[in-house]
Order: sequence, then C-alpha cells, then structure tokens
Amino acid sequence: MAPLNSEYNQQQKDAIRMVRQHLSHLPVSKLRWLKQRIKSYLQFRKVVQSFQQEHFSDICLEKCFTSSTSACCGREGIITFFADVVINVLLSTDEQIDTLLETLEGDIGGSNCVYLNENGCLWLCKPIVCEMFLCDAAKGSVLGQNENLAAQWAGFCRRERMYTWPTRPILFDELEAFFLHEGLDSPLMYLHKSPGLLRLKAKHGLGRRQSLKVSRV
Ligand code: SF4
Ligand code: SF4
Repeated sequence: MAPLNSEYNQQQKDAIRMVRQHLSHLPVSKLRWLKQRIKSYLQFRKVVQSFQQEHFSDICLEKCFTSSTSACCGREGIITFFADVVINVLLSTDEQIDTLLETLEGDIGGSNCVYLNENGCLWLCKPIVCEMFLCDAAKGSVLGQNENLAAQWAGFCRRERMYTWPTRPILFDELEAFFLHEGLDSPLMYLHKSPGLLRLKAKHGLGRRQSLKVSRV
C-alpha cells in the first residue's frame, strides 16, 4: 500500500525536522536556557505519569489495550502543539527522532494514531493533550469512586493550564515565541495562530510583551 502523506503528517514531519535542525545549531547558552525553562514542566509530567500508571493502567489495559480499541489514540485525533514537538526533540535521541520521521513517512493509514505501535506511543514525551486525556468510563470508574483522587486530578488539570492556557505568560507560548524569533514558523504554533487563543491572549494583555521578553535570551 502507498504511504499516506496527509496534511497532518506533513505538518508533523516539517515541525520535527525543523526543530531538530535548528536545535543542532543553537548556541550552548540558548540550549541551556531551553532545558532550564522546561524543567518544572517535566517534573509535572513525571508526577502525572506516575499518577496515571498507579491508578489507570489496570482499567486502560482491561478496557482498551488488550482489545486494541483505545479511544485515546485515534487517527489524527489530537492536537500537537509546537511546544510538544520542541520538548520531545530536546529530550529524544537522534534515533528516536528518526523513528518518528520514518513512521510518518511510511504511514499507510488505519484507524489508529500514526505514532501508535505495538509497544505504545513512539514519542518519548507524548503531547500534553494525550497525557491529560481520560475517557469518561475511566474517569467514572477511578475518580468517581474516590474524592481524594478526583481532587488530585483536578489539581493536575489546573497545573496543566499554567503551561498551556494563555491567560498569563505560559511555557508553551514562550517556546513558540522563542522559535518565531529564531526565524522558524509552523502551523502547529497554535498560541500564535489560533484566532481563539490570540483573542484570549489579547484579552489578558499578552502577546508582544512576551515575545520581547523571550527575544532577549
Ligand atoms: S483512558 Fe479510556 S479510552 Fe483511554 S486507554 Fe484508558 S480506558 Fe481506554
Ligand atoms: S501521540 Fe501517542 S499518546 Fe498521543 S494519540 Fe498518538 S500514539 Fe496516542
């Protein structure tokens, strides 16, 4: 079967290649700034991941992975932010990035996300939308039975917004601004391209000021 070169796959490939290429030429000081800047986010991701593993791995295994019917990983079902790509490329080895690109190149379609293989997701640090998605059945079964866990999950959702929801200066916007200032551009830069998110930023006095701050790095 011929590989499927959808717009989604093309945008993903372009972003991954562009970020990898750019990072490989970045001065050490800027690389150090980027790694420092994502530290608290990675800490957050670690905590969410262990919460998911502890409380959801059984139900997810039982409901979805043994029957290969996961509603979490449908084809082109998730938004990948440009910052997701940056963070994943920063953390991944060349081989891991090659695997993502080869997978996108060789994609022949189907109902599953292009990045899903028999061992799970190919991203080292999967997109935030994937990390934070829980279906209603899983939420009902785990969080619906335990107020303490439900409160913890609500706390994680609030913390996620501190990195991704632009009602204040946030990491995901800052990373886009950094790469825009470096001359890169991508349709995945939703925090600089989505009309809804731009309106939200404007309403909260964000935009130009944040870009100027980042450009001084
Ligand atoms: S969150 Fe829901 S849809 Fe996703 S793997 Fe778990 S049980 Fe399946
Ligand atoms: S990127 Fe990974 S976690 Fe997200 S939908 Fe695709 S396979 Fe699933």
